[in-house]
Amino acid sequence: MLSAYAGAVPVSLRDMKTRLNCPCGEYIVGTDEDDLVAKVQAHLAAEHPGREYDRESILFMAS
Ligand SMILES: [Zn+2]
Repeated sequence: MLSAYAGAVPVSLRDMKTRLNCPCGEYIVGTDEDDLVAKVQAHLAAEHPGREYDRESILFMAS
């Protein structure tokens, strides 16, 4: 018997984060979370050698 059908949230209703304001002043905007993470990591590699953040950390700082 299906008594509990919990937690099904459509992807489109999730809170998408697509913008991150880097402490250096660079404002990075992506088309979606994957794009934002890729652009932030590219920015870090180019402008902040030695600093690496994983997807979780980037999305935590993003808005
Ligand atoms: Zn920066």
